[in-house]
Amino acid sequence: MPQKTSDTPMMQQYMAIKKDYPDAFLFYRIGDFYELFYDDAIKGAQILELTLTSRSHNAVDPIPMCGMPHHAVQNYVDILIEKGYKVAICEQMEDPRLAKGMVKREVIQLITPGTVTDSNVNEAKSNNYLTALTKDDDDQFGFAYADLSTGELKTSHLSTVEAVVNEVVNLRSKEIVVDSSIDKEQQNQFEKLNIMVSHQNSVEVKAELSYLTQNLEDQLEKATVDTLLTYITVTQKRSLAHLQKAVAYEPSYFLRMDHYSKYNLELTRSIRSGKKQGTLLWLLDETRTAMGGRLLKQWLDRPLIQKKEIESRQIKVGELLDHYFERSNLQEELVKVYDLERLAGRVAFGNVNGRDLIQLKTSLRQIPKIQHVLSELDSKVFGTMLAKLDPVEDIADLIDRSIVDEPPISVTEGNVIKDGYNEQLDKYRDAMTNGKKWMAQLEASERQVTGIRNLKVGYNKVFGYYIEITKANLSAVPEGRYERKQTLTNAERFITPALKEKESLILEAEEQSTTLEYKLFSQIREQIKQVIDRLQKLAKQVATLDVLQSFAVVSENYHFVKPTLTKNHSIDIVGGRHPVVEKVMGRQSYVPNDVEMPKSTDILLITGPNMSGKSTYMRQLALTVVLAQMGCFVPAESASLPIFDQIFTRIGAADDLIAGQSTFMVEMQEANRAIQNATPQSLILFDEIGRGTATYDGMALAQAIIEFVHNHVHAKTLFSTHYHELTALDQTLNKLKNVHVGAVEKNGDLVFLHKMEDGPADKSYGIHVAKLAGMPENLLNRADNILKRLEIQNKDTDQVLVEKETQKSQSGQPKVDEKRKPASESEVDEQLALFQTVPADPQGEEILAQIRQTNLMAMTPMDVMNQLYKWQKKLGNK
Ligand code: ADP
Ligand code: MG
Repeated sequence: MPQKTSDTPMMQQYMAIKKDYPDAFLFYRIGDFYELFYDDAIKGAQILELTLTSRSHNAVDPIPMCGMPHHAVQNYVDILIEKGYKVAICEQMEDPRLAKGMVKREVIQLITPGTVTDSNVNEAKSNNYLTALTKDDDDQFGFAYADLSTGELKTSHLSTVEAVVNEVVNLRSKEIVVDSSIDKEQQNQFEKLNIMVSHQNSVEVKAELSYLTQNLEDQLEKATVDTLLTYITVTQKRSLAHLQKAVAYEPSYFLRMDHYSKYNLELTRSIRSGKKQGTLLWLLDETRTAMGGRLLKQWLDRPLIQKKEIESRQIKVGELLDHYFERSNLQEELVKVYDLERLAGRVAFGNVNGRDLIQLKTSLRQIPKIQHVLSELDSKVFGTMLAKLDPVEDIADLIDRSIVDEPPISVTEGNVIKDGYNEQLDKYRDAMTNGKKWMAQLEASERQVTGIRNLKVGYNKVFGYYIEITKANLSAVPEGRYERKQTLTNAERFITPALKEKESLILEAEEQSTTLEYKLFSQIREQIKQVIDRLQKLAKQVATLDVLQSFAVVSENYHFVKPTLTKNHSIDIVGGRHPVVEKVMGRQSYVPNDVEMPKSTDILLITGPNMSGKSTYMRQLALTVVLAQMGCFVPAESASLPIFDQIFTRIGAADDLIAGQSTFMVEMQEANRAIQNATPQSLILFDEIGRGTATYDGMALAQAIIEFVHNHVHAKTLFSTHYHELTALDQTLNKLKNVHVGAVEKNGDLVFLHKMEDGPADKSYGIHVAKLAGMPENLLNRADNILKRLEIQNKDTDQVLVEKETQKSQSGQPKVDEKRKPASESEVDEQLALFQTVPADPQGEEILAQIRQTNLMAMTPMDVMNQLYKWQKKLGNK
């Protein structure tokens, strides 16, 4: 019986290895190829568009197979990782020519979405965070994250699943490592968000990594970091010398915003495209280095809440803003600084090449120049930073002495180390040069002896050095002078014993020199590895400086001012702007607006027609707060603000069309989270909340929410609404102020002024718009009448609500809304008369019956108008 393919030693080795990586594509190295087998092959061939073949297709059990040449592997890995798969790279661990029996193979790395470091997946200006989650007996969550390319390692303590989801989404983590304490339901939460859940149930941290957690006091945090480190060790199987000591952070130490709010405010991702374009990050990013770009994003994700820290940034931004030339010089020097953090990571991983080291040197050589620029600025402001900048000169000098200026990509094929760096290497190189000189002389002397002018000495990999003579000249070669080696179409190649002797000297020297070069290169790399922490500290300083100069550039370009941070809970912004909308539409067209919320005003109730600028106004305030607390200047003529602890942003379901996922239920849950978690130090934006349900229902909820915020939460709140009825609340809620966005009619067009004014909006715009649309005159009159009638009804409702409030909150007469006097008595009579006139015809009877059955409470004024219009038509519109 023939042997089954699956029984061959190689397939058995494959199966044994695959068993340990059931959830990964196993890339199994055979010679110059990586091969995939079985299901991996079937699925892989489809995803990677490879040809599916089979191993031993004549056997009884052909095995599905596909493969790719080893040099092209990176592309394929990238595709799989990007699609959310894992890839196990299995290499031949010995030279197949020297192996006895089966070549030994091992998985040298498990690449996963959260651990991928060297690929196109990582954009220079963003981090790739691998997160980890565990839970203790008290249901507290330990949370940790690391970026393997930069070595950042952080941990925290969270008490709710929401808080965890928030962190994970904020960090844009693609993979979370959990242990068995995290139940299936919690894991599902991440999977629903397309985040890969990886399992690490045992913990085993190598002794050499134990220092990473030595500063952690909290046991849960330490356990979580250990879980994360174990997973990283198990998957990476390589040096992790660049990982930085774990730092515990406290989310409440920063301005907190849930991911929904961040999304909604378009801080780093635009709602429409999901891209950076059109976001606050897009506006702010004038950074010149990759590290600066990443830090800017981190600052944007976590604005500060400590006055001193914010002001320390402000002072530096101000100093840079005032010194245009120094700032430009600084930018010029920063541009030439490469990604020090990721270079340090590559040093640790052992995959740096000569070019990386030249980049490192170039970057380090910039530091003294940057120091020089800083020394020209106020030393009270930049003195500390200047002192902290370490140019790591010893390493720059080492690279300068040892690595050639334009090294090749490969580190194993020589030509990397400079002449004069190592005596032995110089000797080998001399031998090589002498040998080559000897060859050149040989060519000259043989030409002379034979008289063949195109005789040449050449070299190829298979035959080594040779003397080549064209067929036409063969007769001129003295008998027995050379030994024939190879015949070409129109030439013959020869050798001589002396030639071969020289050749072996040259080749030996060459081989020894490449081996030595690699050894020297590895030594240099090891030396750099010793200073990784210095490089990382330097990277942080450079990144900070870069973000600060970016703030200064933006503040100048867009006319930002330094905000004053108040302690008296009052907001006073003069001429504030939405920086992104302004940038997009141009400074000339944007209408600046004030925000005035003294201690005595907690809620601004914003009314105004659609598209008048309500949402923009609200976001403008939130962005101004975020900018201020990042330490940046703000888009206004002047601004004074308190320091907020949290920002909540909720958008009414009807407005949240783009996200397309927000139901009324979600809206209410989100609103609930805001009112439950906000403090008097928080900022709440409720944009047309309550729109997602029937009119009265929604209005009732909106009013109740406003009252609750006013009476219990006391957070600074902007509430925009299309329920004009709510504007009456300023009668009972003394910390509520009405503002509205103005609009005027100009040459028959309705023009939005985008200007905030005090008081409630004029509410006749709906009919106004209908008029502009050219609706029949009598219809419009009718609508006007209906509206008046509805207003009277609403007035009653309002008064009921107002009265109740008043009785509860104060003694004395209920207040009457001055601005909205009831319609005159005759008017009311006229309206009522309309409904009392009962037509005595069957058509009329039927309509009357319909009127009786109509549930007014479930209709919008527009519905009512439409219905009335239909009835009127049926009645023949007398
Ligand atoms: P609303 O929420 O009242 O429906 P938006 O805030 O969405 O209105 O604004 C609608 C549009 O009006 C915006 O897309 C913008 O083009 C313009 N706009 C808003 N505020 C201003 C402003 N202050 N100056 C100029 N244009 C503005
Ligand atoms: Mg809006």
